[in-house]
Amino acid sequence: MRKKIVAGNWKMNNDLNSSVALISEIKNLLASKSLNAEVIICPPFTSLDAANSLIKDTQIKLGAQNMYYEKSGAFTGEISPLMLKSVGCQYVILGHSERRTIFGESNQLINKKIKAAVENQLNPIFCIGETLEERESGVTFKIIETQMREGLEGLTAEELANLIIAYEPVWAIGTGKTATPEQAEEVHAFIRKLIGELYSTEFAEKLIIQYGGSVKPENAAELMSQPDIDGALVGGACLKADSFVKIIESAQ
Ligand code: PEP
Repeated sequence: MRKKIVAGNWKMNNDLNSSVALISEIKNLLASKSLNAEVIICPPFTSLDAANSLIKDTQIKLGAQNMYYEKSGAFTGEISPLMLKSVGCQYVILGHSERRTIFGESNQLINKKIKAAVENQLNPIFCIGETLEERESGVTFKIIETQMREGLEGLTAEELANLIIAYEPVWAIGTGKTATPEQAEEVHAFIRKLIGELYSTEFAEKLIIQYGGSVKPENAAELMSQPDIDGALVGGACLKADSFVKIIESAQ
């Protein structure tokens, strides 16, 4: 049985003070609860250090929303894997659709970032997903396959032992339109099958595949009860402690 993992992608929200307040609320709500899901929060870079101190001795783990693939040097404005590790990150979201569309990240760049993450023992949360136009023109599986083949190129099953894939249909992110559990499950099953072909069925069976795209307390349980949906990557709804905790508690 795979464990469920629920991660909160805060995006560019919350300054230091409001980050501290949100984490404190999440901590209070989760305190002494026995959970069926692992919990990850991904605040902005400027709040990671404070978050790391606040989540010590809790069930919450820390992730970043992006990073560059070099260790250090003349890369103004960028953050390295080692910097993320130094503030307690265990996870990093890579290939988010906002990075792909707004910042022009290609599968090749994302591949370099995934390689750098695993070389530095950071667990990638690798985001993939089709746009509405791609879904409507019937190329969803082709897009997913290309993102996976190019994003994971040259990486071995051993290197990817702690990989998480997040299927996030672009048309469902921040739009309030959620994929139906059946639509999501169909793509998750495809992702697992492809991982089986690229690596092994044993690896595919262990792989955590999260769904992301307008997950909220009202739809989380049904989505996460699908056989190939192993948790959620939550955007908007993770900015309210009670909604985020309800989603975490929906994992069975
Ligand atoms: C996300 O940003 O990864 C996301 C899924 O956002 P939302 O839940 O707001 O759709």
